[in-house]
Amino acid sequence: MTVRQNIREAGLWVVKVGSALLTGNGRSLDHDAIGRWCDQIATLREGGRRVILVSSGAVAEGCRRLGLASRPESVHELQAAAAAGQMGLVEAYEGALRRSGLGTAMVLLTHDDFADRGRYLNARTTLRTLLDFDVVPVINENDSVATEEIKLGDNDMLSAMVASALAADVLVLLTDQDGLLERDPRVDPGAPLVSDASADDPRLDGYAGGGGVLGRGGMVTKLAAARLAARSGTHTVIANGNLDDVLLMIARGSDIGTVLAAHVEPLASRKRWIAGQLIAKGEIALDAGAVEAVRNRGVSVLAVGAVRATGTFRRGDMVRVTDAEGAEVAKGLVNYSGDEIRLLLGAASSEIESRLGYVDEPELIHRDNLAVL
Ligand code: GLU
Repeated sequence: MTVRQNIREAGLWVVKVGSALLTGNGRSLDHDAIGRWCDQIATLREGGRRVILVSSGAVAEGCRRLGLASRPESVHELQAAAAAGQMGLVEAYEGALRRSGLGTAMVLLTHDDFADRGRYLNARTTLRTLLDFDVVPVINENDSVATEEIKLGDNDMLSAMVASALAADVLVLLTDQDGLLERDPRVDPGAPLVSDASADDPRLDGYAGGGGVLGRGGMVTKLAAARLAARSGTHTVIANGNLDDVLLMIARGSDIGTVLAAHVEPLASRKRWIAGQLIAKGEIALDAGAVEAVRNRGVSVLAVGAVRATGTFRRGDMVRVTDAEGAEVAKGLVNYSGDEIRLLLGAASSEIESRLGYVDEPELIHRDNLAVL
């Protein structure tokens, strides 16, 4: 199957809309365009796909709302503009998605939320839960406290982090260009479009950086975003958001934009990351039945099979999973702290609430976060 055919089958989409597109006339949010994308998202939803939107445009809209003639230089003014403009994004998406018959929710995130594993897991669970509630989450960087995307990416990296956290099937970066070109179109108007490539292809660096197409929201950050997403098995499409039915064309596998394919097996790459990159903060020992189930049946680690937990660790930390004798079976990211797990040893998932007073997840380590060794 080609990658474009694969994308036709994609169930979970992260769609990022850049500032230049959203403020097409350079002054205020383009409500007509937002309405068209939201209508397309509704059509995707009818086809059984789930969509998360990542939207920029808060700074641009905030500049208008605060009466600034041009984009300010100082970061604190940009952050203030983002806070003011975020209200416009909320209004615009709430209105457009409601007209398309869809509910919505706003989630503001920072890069630090992804570096801290506890917050990362919380954000991921919140997004999954919102999708289960059948609404379209709209995400932006929390620009009033964070500055990464204001300075650099216009949400390119943030959208890749979201796609990677949820192991989305496809990340669509909508921009005001047709895709990644082999040369800077300002220098060479006839530069050919890169149609399909592997995200890891080293030639892309020359294309993305060539001719000085650097800076906020340029192709350099889009390429970096595609590479980050690829590590979780997510394919990226860079496409022109002004094209009619752009999202529907991508869903049909049409030959538009640039596809940057993930050529790694998704779970394998994620498990490599868990097993290879992190330092174990503790240990959970399992009884023989649970060891057999984890080893041979790919199940999650449940409290009912846990006999011992050692070490001081927090939700989101990586721990070793062992048999009762201490031999290593797996490594995984825990949903509960060491102290919590010590209270849960041997408990059925339905008893978690009575033992702790709350439930974060029914399993100690979800199988998606477990690398069996
Ligand atoms: N997150 C920012 C926004 O929504 C990034 C774009 C920018 O810096 O203009 O506006």
